[in-house]
Amino acid sequence: MNGMRELLKEWNGLGVVQGYDHETGTWMFIALHDATLGPMVGGCRMKPYPAPEDGARDAMRLAQGMTYKWAAIDFPFGGGKSVLAIPRPLEGEEKRGLLRRFGRLLESLHGGYATGVDLGTTPEDMDVLAEASQYVMGHGLSGSGTADPGPYTALGVYAGIRSSLKAADGSADVAGKSVLIQGAGDVGEPLARMLAEAGAEVLISDIAEPLASRIASELGGRAIPVSETYTTPCDVFAPCAVGAILNRETIPQLACRIVAGSANNQLDGAEDAELLHERGILYAPDYVVNAGGAIAFGMMHLGESNEEAMRERVGEIENTLDRIFPEAGQRGESPVHGARRVAEDALRRGREKAHV
Ligand code: NAD
Repeated sequence: MNGMRELLKEWNGLGVVQGYDHETGTWMFIALHDATLGPMVGGCRMKPYPAPEDGARDAMRLAQGMTYKWAAIDFPFGGGKSVLAIPRPLEGEEKRGLLRRFGRLLESLHGGYATGVDLGTTPEDMDVLAEASQYVMGHGLSGSGTADPGPYTALGVYAGIRSSLKAADGSADVAGKSVLIQGAGDVGEPLARMLAEAGAEVLISDIAEPLASRIASELGGRAIPVSETYTTPCDVFAPCAVGAILNRETIPQLACRIVAGSANNQLDGAEDAELLHERGILYAPDYVVNAGGAIAFGMMHLGESNEEAMRERVGEIENTLDRIFPEAGQRGESPVHGARRVAEDALRRGREKAHV
């Protein structure tokens, strides 16, 4: 593949395993970024890309992100990610066949890399993948198929909102605070329920407006039209839909004091963290605040089945942020820098331990 050499030259990861599925015309990439802290673990993304190199680039970028995510939450895993760059949307037996063949590639790494659900793959897909490989996270541990990470991720976001409120107001209590959730999906909906139960005012915006209205009225909250998502005053804005929504256009419009949500890559560019900081908006770094699902699935993968132990470990996201926010305040900088330092320190300690 033409662009692959250039991509690898520009990347600081360990390497990329590549395969081609002749039956479906799918390029398969497993990007192995860093194994300092443990076996490399990260989700499996399945989608069409303009060119195979774009799929490889995505896998490499996301694997690097996983290294920092695991390190920031002090979890004994390294960063990896897989991408199935399909030529067109696949259904039924064609898709299942691809997953089984990808499972064989996964199995051939003997646990050096394990995967789970990501964009374009479902818990049902993981069940199929697990027919060919034992290195599928969250599968078969609840006794029936693959678990849903959304509620654990929501629990982690809830912990992140508590820590953010503590840093901003001195109290972690969400009661009486308004939280605007963008995206009422697998994460947004359970998050809305937790917040409502704890006495927060819940505002919900979703491109599926009937969905937002239904959940809002059920929880005594308010549905917000999509066009007013960024301008509606609230204490906390929780992006739980798509990435890159914090950008030069939206940040000046924001009428919140805190941003803490599950969406991956919320900042359009690194400079957007500084824009939020200049506006006095506290930003909870996405890869820390959205790690709940990864933590729970990681624990299941390591053999944990106690629900309470998993919930407790996810709740530690609050402690991690409790260390990052005050330091950011003292240094007068965006919390993204502290999160990065926490991750880099963990990687440095890991390297020292391994003498590499
Ligand atoms: P989902 O697909 O279940 O839900 C997303 C919701 O957002 C849908 O209801 C969709 O209609 C809505 N939406 C899409 N674009 C929107 C927009 N522009 N404005 C308002 N609403 C919009 O996804 P999810 O699993 O809930 O994940 C949400 C985000 O969190 C994603 O960015 C995902 O990558 C990230 N994330 C999820 C998990 C997890 O455990 N599911 C873990 C880590 C990160």
